[in-house]
Amino acid sequence: MRRLFGILSATTVMVVALRIFAAAATAGLVILLGQGFDLFYRGESPDTRWYIGVAGELLALALSTFLVPVVIAHDSQQLTAYHRSKLLKHYLSIGPLAVRRAGEGELVHSAMDLVERSVKFRSSFLGPASAAVATPVLILVFIALFIDPLSAILLLIPTALVPVIVLGFQKRYGGSAGEYRRAQGILSATFLDALRSLNMLKLNGGSSWMGETIGSATERVRQQVMKLLARNQLILLVIDSSFAVLLLASSAALAWWRTSSGAMSPGLGFALIILSYLMLAPVNYVGSFFYIGMTGRAAEKKLAEIQDIPMHPSMANPLTVNLSQNGLFIEDLCASYNNADLALNKINLQFPVGSRTAIVGPSGSGKSTLIRVLQGQLQSSAGIIHDGRQAMGPATLKANTAVVEQQATLFGVSLAANLRLGAPNATDEQLRAVISQVRMDSWLADQPLGLDQPLGEGGARLSGGQAQRLALARALLAQRPVLLLDEPTSALDVHSEADIRQSLRELGSSTTIITVTHRLGLLADFDYVVVMDQGRVIQSGPREQLVNQDGYLKGALNDLSQRTAQLQASGLRALGEGKA
Ligand code: ADP
Repeated sequence: MRRLFGILSATTVMVVALRIFAAAATAGLVILLGQGFDLFYRGESPDTRWYIGVAGELLALALSTFLVPVVIAHDSQQLTAYHRSKLLKHYLSIGPLAVRRAGEGELVHSAMDLVERSVKFRSSFLGPASAAVATPVLILVFIALFIDPLSAILLLIPTALVPVIVLGFQKRYGGSAGEYRRAQGILSATFLDALRSLNMLKLNGGSSWMGETIGSATERVRQQVMKLLARNQLILLVIDSSFAVLLLASSAALAWWRTSSGAMSPGLGFALIILSYLMLAPVNYVGSFFYIGMTGRAAEKKLAEIQDIPMHPSMANPLTVNLSQNGLFIEDLCASYNNADLALNKINLQFPVGSRTAIVGPSGSGKSTLIRVLQGQLQSSAGIIHDGRQAMGPATLKANTAVVEQQATLFGVSLAANLRLGAPNATDEQLRAVISQVRMDSWLADQPLGLDQPLGEGGARLSGGQAQRLALARALLAQRPVLLLDEPTSALDVHSEADIRQSLRELGSSTTIITVTHRLGLLADFDYVVVMDQGRVIQSGPREQLVNQDGYLKGALNDLSQRTAQLQASGLRALGEGKA
């Protein structure tokens, strides 16, 4: 499985080196102090080399202690930014359908909380913890070289038990950190849902219900945290105290035995006891191991799972096709979501260059699915889409289509940055031209910062009609041969709708327009009509021909004109009654 991080980053190695350097300086200092004690004990005074040694060790200790937090802080910031942007790129590459399947709340939680935890684990835990594991070995080497080889060998036994116990606990309690992470993910997803649907919840009186759902998700997180904490405290108590007693008691016994037998000086005996205390460093890390280590490892596991979601085929290199020569052709096209029932079932259609086609049909008939396949978002399961000569996959379709959806997606950046999303090299003149094309030039004239005007988060400073017109402007600026529109005016007022229809009518004849609409009253704008039902095309052809031919469209239009007549009649009656 691909891992999010390498085994050890350069900074982690540096932190390990600095920590080991600090431990060596401390051990050296303790031994020098022990030797100094012996000299005083014998009534001698240390020479200059001893003083220089002590000063050097102190300096080395201060330097490495000062550098470690600086290196860690610097590294954390860089790693967090790097991994967030890497994750965001990955979200973009797996495509919107996979993002929805993975859970948007969960993915936001991953980019924020999980990245923070895993970076904390990498930069402030893994380095010092690896150093802490290496420290006892280093101290044993110092004891063997400068104090007493036999004591070093005997102390090796309790020291070797530390990694065995730490690994044992990790194996036993790894699952609880995973449960904690999952509970956190559910809480974030619930919160995101609530934020998105604030209006709806308020209108439908669902706020107390949502409050309860968030409350129970929070309670689950609290329970998992308490579980982790309880285990943490238990481990600290058991390991910390038992190892402290074991190591200190063995070293004190060794010091007493070796000094009384004359194999060790009293000063070095003291040094041995103090050094054995320093060997407890890995045990002190067991506490943070449960907080940062376990949650960090669970976070990394989840992040690695997300990274393993395969890239969408639309991210591949597109082929060069010519949709402005023959048009767009669909043959026996099938598509489905998650291998379930066919949402598109053997579709055959032709879209001549510059044609305007309306796709109509009841809800759930596959209209939006067809648009998704044509824009390269959903991969077809059978059939072929081609330009008359060459077949096109998702990447080629994505490169040749521009899309305007029901709800415009705008960002809190400037107007220009929003428009340039599909055409990064567009000049200011081109931006102004396209803004005028969607009839937003007078609005632009009122903006104090002109093209640099920020649009507010999600285009919050714009009305629905303005936002949709800018979405159309962005699609037009991309200058793709095929323009796909999914009910672009369904949520708009009459004037905004009229403006958008006019802008589309004025488009040059090289752009092929395919629009999903449920408004039969707009059909006059289209040359061709496709009627879909249950994933199939049940009628298609020139509009003039279809409206006169018996079938779904003629029936639906008759139905519409009858209802309009009834409405007008009842309106007139109401007016008459009003007058009376
Ligand atoms: P229309 O646009 O005509 O209302 P859709 O293309 O949205 O219809 O839906 C066609 C079929 O595909 C429906 O049965 C619908 O339930 C299913 N469908 C649409 N979107 C998804 C999705 N994201 N995941 C699973 N099934 C979907």
